[in-house]
Amino acid sequence: MKLFIIGGAGYIGSHIVKLAYENGHEVITLDNLSTGHKDSVLYGKFEYCDIQDSNRLNELFKNYNPDAVMHFSAYSIVGESTIDPYKYYYNNTVGTLNLLKIMIDNDCKNFIFSSTAAVFGNPEYIPIDETHPKNPINPYGKSKLMVEQMLEDFDSAHGLKYVVFRYFNAAGHDKSGKLAERHDPETHLLPLVIQTLNGQRESISIYGSDYDTKDGTCIRDYIHVNDLAQVHLQGVEYLLSGDNGSKVYNLGSGNGFSVKEIIEKVKGITGKDFKVIEDERREGDPAVLIASSKRAKKELGFSPKIDKIDDIIRTLIN
Ligand code: UDP
Repeated sequence: MKLFIIGGAGYIGSHIVKLAYENGHEVITLDNLSTGHKDSVLYGKFEYCDIQDSNRLNELFKNYNPDAVMHFSAYSIVGESTIDPYKYYYNNTVGTLNLLKIMIDNDCKNFIFSSTAAVFGNPEYIPIDETHPKNPINPYGKSKLMVEQMLEDFDSAHGLKYVVFRYFNAAGHDKSGKLAERHDPETHLLPLVIQTLNGQRESISIYGSDYDTKDGTCIRDYIHVNDLAQVHLQGVEYLLSGDNGSKVYNLGSGNGFSVKEIIEKVKGITGKDFKVIEDERREGDPAVLIASSKRAKKELGFSPKIDKIDDIIRTLIN
């Protein structure tokens, strides 16, 4: 298959580029390098492109005529979205709307969309399945939910077929050691803990110790990035294997770990101590996010291979 991987220079996108290439697909990364790194695109072609640039997108769709588009180019920092909502709605929502228009204009109607657990807001029950009410509590989650809603309408109006994957917490690195989570500034828990372990930071802050959880810190569901990558390929194969309808899947491990537990696990695995500070809550953080991935398991054969949190952490440490 010929795949456009938009945002292929980013953390999740670059892992998907690698796996798709290794599985024999023709991969073309489109990226504006606003947060991604060109040297993370290990295989296939690279085309500089901003999803707001209709002319450039049109030119690329005409040149390559891809079978499907996988779209990862989004801003994804919850806290930042609360102080700069324009950035999130403009890129994540308006940018994707623009992309969808160009896809329809070019008769490309297979779309994989990277969504998020943030579309749910504070859970009404755990684990969160696909039918759970969607009440996002930050602009990041809202910017992605709007795209999910647009997709339903593009399907009805234009026959655009899509698979939406809502990730819980993507984590870990490819075992080749060639790819890494390289956000600048880094805001995610696991890479920050590793930086603290390495002495690149003086301490790690725990954002809130007064949540209604077992130890007062937020609970998240971590899923290894290569398991995410694998199920994306299964998603695109599903779309291209016949007259298949659009689908939405939650992706996680079904297990939750608190911020404190993650920090203690890194200390335990490495046998090294580092400084931990109990800090204020971060705006926009739900207390608990744990996925039910039953639907993806049943329908797509989603089967995470690195499903133990200690193993996920080890891929980062290695
Ligand atoms: N977190 C923290 N300290 C940090 C970074 C994150 O306590 O330096 C917490 C954060 O408040 C959240 C959890 O760790 O409860 C996971 O945050 P992350 O940014 O990794 O992912 P998110 O769940 O926001 O997508």
